[in-house]
Amino acid sequence: MKVLKFGGTSVGSAQRMKDVAKLINDGGQKIVVLSAMSGTTNTLVEISNYMYKKNPEGANDIINKLEDKYKGHLDELFSTEEYKQKAWNVLRKHFDELRSYTKDLFTLFEEKSVLSKGELISTNMMNFYLQELGLKSILIPALEYMRTDKDNEPDPAYIQKKLKELLELNKDADIYITQGFICRNAYGEVDNLQRGGSDYTASLVGAAIKADEIEIWTDIDGMHDNDPRVVDKTSPVRKLHFEEAAELAYFGAKILHPTCIQPAKFANIPVRLLNTMDPSAPGTMISNQTEKNKIKAVAAKDNITAIKIKSSRMLLAYGFLRKVFEIFESYQTSIDMVCTSEVGVSVSIDNKQHLPEILDDLKKYGIVTIDDDMCIVCVVGDLQWENIGFESLALDAMKHIPVRMVSYGGSNYNISFLIRESDKKAALQALSDILFNNKK
Ligand code: ASP
Ligand code: MG
Repeated sequence: MKVLKFGGTSVGSAQRMKDVAKLINDGGQKIVVLSAMSGTTNTLVEISNYMYKKNPEGANDIINKLEDKYKGHLDELFSTEEYKQKAWNVLRKHFDELRSYTKDLFTLFEEKSVLSKGELISTNMMNFYLQELGLKSILIPALEYMRTDKDNEPDPAYIQKKLKELLELNKDADIYITQGFICRNAYGEVDNLQRGGSDYTASLVGAAIKADEIEIWTDIDGMHDNDPRVVDKTSPVRKLHFEEAAELAYFGAKILHPTCIQPAKFANIPVRLLNTMDPSAPGTMISNQTEKNKIKAVAAKDNITAIKIKSSRMLLAYGFLRKVFEIFESYQTSIDMVCTSEVGVSVSIDNKQHLPEILDDLKKYGIVTIDDDMCIVCVVGDLQWENIGFESLALDAMKHIPVRMVSYGGSNYNISFLIRESDKKAALQALSDILFNNKK
């Protein structure tokens, strides 16, 4: 069985929902994970903000507008009164519940419930629409199987057991519709898998049922979306290793939500990224297979700060790095690149919120200098150390560019350079010329 996930824009209007219905109506049995219609979760966040600020009128105003919008969607989606009414009965219940929260104390608990409404609504609409078309579609409520533990981590054993039971109960269905993003926590309360979490749902569901494949449908073609951070290549990237996808996720390349990679990778289930706007395109396949001797992409990230701590005491000393890293940890600041020598260490960070305090604390251990407005440029592909050639090509591309740090060997799939932001364009161009277009 396959798992298909459609994001907010892919179900962003009645017409888009109809397009999705066409895509999933191919006879095969499948689980379909849906996001909320685009913009809805943001609107629900806004409603919660009004409620936290004890402004029920503000909240009510937005709820009523949202309700009107959905009435319009129902008019457009359904062609029979019967199914429109069925859908409306469910939607009205959710809107009434939203309104009820404006009367009482509003806490995190209520907020989670408010945020769950987008997916509860979109899945009901789709399910009734498919039934109106005469398809054997059934709703599998995420709140009955998707669960997190006390550490807010998904509980795979519970998910697998419950999902299996639910599928077993509804054996005859062809299409199982379910909500992305939402879950129950260890205390049985409505909760969620964090913003953008529908990809994560798809990955967890795919792993739980040992799906043949997980398809993530978006309205962009993963690697070919003119994302300025990824250098334009002559051909789109068709295959990626999970770790290549993970490397690229940091650079904001719109590939896969980072959390989504782990369950599918672990269960060895390929994830295919597909484009709802161009459904017959082959998309990008992400799996545990490495494409040998291939560089896949070059990506960059701005707003990086490099920090160098130089200390003669580091020579032959142990525990120096731990002390340095602990300072970053105490300010909840994650380190991205690290380069060491016998007398110093340089690290890069992308969150400057606590930079003054961090610098202050680091001064205990050595002479501290920083370089601001830097940028990480990274080359992603088959960069296993035994391979030869690509490291020197990448370095060669940087021959006219001042390089502050180089990191290679942290994974089998990446070389990173830290350079000035102002040199980014030139660096990306040079790397692209040399690595993809064989220009020297
Ligand atoms: N609707 C949720 C959000 O906007 C989850 C998702 O779309 O993946 O964050
Ligand atoms: Mg090598």
